[in-house]
Amino acid sequence: FDPSKYIPQLRESWSTDGGDASYALLTRCFVLVNGTSSRIKIVDTLVNCIRLLIEGDPDSLLPAVWLATNAISPPYVSMELGLGGSAISKALKNVCGLDNRSLKTIYDKLGDPGDVAFEAKKKQSFTLRKPKPLTIKSVYQSLVKIATTQGQGSGEIKQRIVDRLLQDARGGEESRYIVRTLCQHLRIGAVKTTMLIALSRAFQLSRPAGAEFPTKEPKELAKLRKEELAEVWARGEELVKACFARRPNYNDLVPVLVEIGITEELLIRCNLTLHIPLRPMLGSITRDLSEMLTKLQGRDFACEYKYDGQRAQVHCDAKGKVSIFSRHLELMTDKYPDLVALVPKIREEGVESFIMEGEVVAVDRETGELKNFQTLTNRARKDVDIGSITIDVCLFAFDLMYLNGQPLLGRPFRERRELLRSLFVEIPHHFTWVKSIDATSQDSESVLEFFKSAIDIKCEGIMVKILDNLPDLEYTPGGDVEPADGSETATAAKKPTNGKSKGKSKGTADKEALEKKAKGRRKPLLATYEPDKRLDSWLKVKKDYNSSFETLDLIPIAGWHGQGRKAKWWSPILLAVRNEDTGSLEAVCKCMSGFTDPFYKANKEFYDDGEIGGEPKNVLAKKPGYVEYAGQPDVWFEPQEVWEMAFADITLSPTYTAAIGLVSEDRGLSLRFPRFLKKREDKGIDEASTSEFLAGLWRKQEAKAPTAAKGEGAE
Ligand code: ATP
Repeated sequence: FDPSKYIPQLRESWSTDGGDASYALLTRCFVLVNGTSSRIKIVDTLVNCIRLLIEGDPDSLLPAVWLATNAISPPYVSMELGLGGSAISKALKNVCGLDNRSLKTIYDKLGDPGDVAFEAKKKQSFTLRKPKPLTIKSVYQSLVKIATTQGQGSGEIKQRIVDRLLQDARGGEESRYIVRTLCQHLRIGAVKTTMLIALSRAFQLSRPAGAEFPTKEPKELAKLRKEELAEVWARGEELVKACFARRPNYNDLVPVLVEIGITEELLIRCNLTLHIPLRPMLGSITRDLSEMLTKLQGRDFACEYKYDGQRAQVHCDAKGKVSIFSRHLELMTDKYPDLVALVPKIREEGVESFIMEGEVVAVDRETGELKNFQTLTNRARKDVDIGSITIDVCLFAFDLMYLNGQPLLGRPFRERRELLRSLFVEIPHHFTWVKSIDATSQDSESVLEFFKSAIDIKCEGIMVKILDNLPDLEYTPGGDVEPADGSETATAAKKPTNGKSKGKSKGTADKEALEKKAKGRRKPLLATYEPDKRLDSWLKVKKDYNSSFETLDLIPIAGWHGQGRKAKWWSPILLAVRNEDTGSLEAVCKCMSGFTDPFYKANKEFYDDGEIGGEPKNVLAKKPGYVEYAGQPDVWFEPQEVWEMAFADITLSPTYTAAIGLVSEDRGLSLRFPRFLKKREDKGIDEASTSEFLAGLWRKQEAKAPTAAKGEGAE
């Protein structure tokens, strides 16, 4: 093992304690990632760090991956650190010998607890015992211990572990990242999003001692032309991502990678499994029906009601054991004991095990009338007792991904839907299928009627899904689909017909366009279930998309005292997008539109600066270091909510920092006429819109500007 091959800054930090790689290596990696916004450099740093571990201490790789992605378990295994901010403050006082006052001064100056730890460690004047160097494994094990310690005295045990971690942390940087890890805000979001890419490349370049290189030797890779190398990388990434989409757990993926590297066998070893959730397929946004019909020109598709409830992935095994997972892969079996009792009964004879997806919607049990999402949120989240349920629900199934031991992901949607409809039994007002019609882009009138009927019964709009794969296509799981003949000439999609259907039969519609598209270079839309992908083969058309733009999911980060009638409330409110690369929040606009008075009131009670009496809550003493904004609001909110916002258009701005550097070196982006639509209770701040997404919307808007100027923009 020769560490000298790796980038010098990492190489210098390589050391082991009893054979285990030191935490210093990971800290160094975090510092390097934090110091750049170049994605290439970030991936390169991660790849180097992972390679050092693969070759020098493969057992530390898995804990390193967990620590770098700021988690200790997958979302469906509930492992909460459950540490309050006070445990960290206490540890800083215990370890660094600070009193309340001096700690508060540092907090007020710096805001971010990690930065506070960095400063506090510098002031440390004594040590209670000789520090023991932290290793990657020991830090991870400490976190697991914190998460699993329960019962009487657990608070003290957890405190001792935190104290010890801070005592053993060498210097400011280790302390900074230990504390950020404990607060679960590492502020290097790019690591999370690039981890799978980095793993796949590292395993193509390195192997554990004694193992074979699965594909090519690194020296052969070095001889490849740029395009050939890009192809090797892409296939590796596609494979690793496909595995993680089917089994989103590093505990499953990393040991298999260490054992067999990047080979096709990975997908066999990490395939769909009952009671482990796969990552859901996602839908792309369309502005309106007309855009949807244009995108799906020449294809047969299903339009389905887009119910306003909670997505549920339902697993049922041959013994009738049921697990239910949320859109974000959390286990929510305890929330729906009524569904757990129901699901084994919906199987027709011959169905043993299955994984199905549907929307759980609050309904009136007698009439079946749909209730809104707000009603569903009134159901308790955990340990719901089946006898005391007050919010009744119905499961509207829309997909079947696994049946009797066989994954169905590669089958076209028409086939999966047929199985779903024929192998399960409807139980009115408890279990049924989503309402749907089949159509082509010729059928704009019936699609419009269907859309209106969805809105009439309080659905959010419709989901539109491609039914069949194009003929002559070969399907590779986790791979891309290309026309079998490999021929070219892409054809631009035609404008949709103006409402009047010429009555062509479904399936034969627009044959010409279909054939041209089949030969096209552009990747055709798939009817397969593609976990974790947002493709145009699933489109959403929502009722509030009739404005000229999509909506954004923004994080409220600060507020000003209102004027006049609003004097007791926060108004306006400052909102931010999230920079995925740096982990910072970039201010994008102030908003004072779309709020009701009760909303303002509740908002002031939630972000309480202590004015109402009592302790301040959900507010920060100072602008946190991870917020990019030069203005001076009256209060800083602790970022925790996601609000869906509408707006008229996006403008360049010298004041706001959102997407700065992405579209202009010195100006950010802001929103004109931002308007609050609703809280996204189902989204955490990690899922708020990114600056990259905002920049993409701005580019789209700019590309359209000349048309709009001619008055042709509005559709
Ligand atoms: P994302 O697409 O990332 O989930 P989002 O959370 O904003 O974004 P929505 O815009 O609400 O999602 O649209 C997708 C959601 O619609 C699905 O996750 C699912 O919960 C819901 N849904 C309701 N009816 C259907 C249906 N017939 N088919 C698929 N999804 C449906």
